[in-house]
Amino acid sequence: MTTVLRMTKQREIILEALEGASHPSAETIYAEVRKRLPHISLGTVYRNLRQLKETGDISELQCSGEYSRFDSNLSRHYHVTCSLCGMVMDIDIDPASLKEMEEEVGKKTGFDISSHCVGFHGICQDCKG
Ligand SMILES: [Zn+2]
Ligand SMILES: [Zn+2]
Repeated sequence: MTTVLRMTKQREIILEALEGASHPSAETIYAEVRKRLPHISLGTVYRNLRQLKETGDISELQCSGEYSRFDSNLSRHYHVTCSLCGMVMDIDIDPASLKEMEEEVGKKTGFDISSHCVGFHGICQDCKG
């Protein structure tokens, strides 16, 4: 019982750390969570992130570089990642235009397309300056 309670508290704190940052990596979340739970391990943070993903409370970015980034914004949206500092920003794209792209790919390949992965990469304003 205590284990369950502790898990819930951990998850709560992990969620808060995630919501307080913009698309943090597991390591960033870990650093933040450790300020409140100094004895938590990175493995525990990973496990909780996986569970939060399974329950649909958070999402993991699919196309934003080589390591995992997490998002508390569950609405369908796209990201642009800075190749220099790793900053990730949300982009507002009309989902209809990407739906059309899926349909076109479906027509061309005969696949029933269930999802797609679009990620943008470049240099952010800060890094340019
Ligand atoms: Zn940058
Ligand atoms: Zn996002």
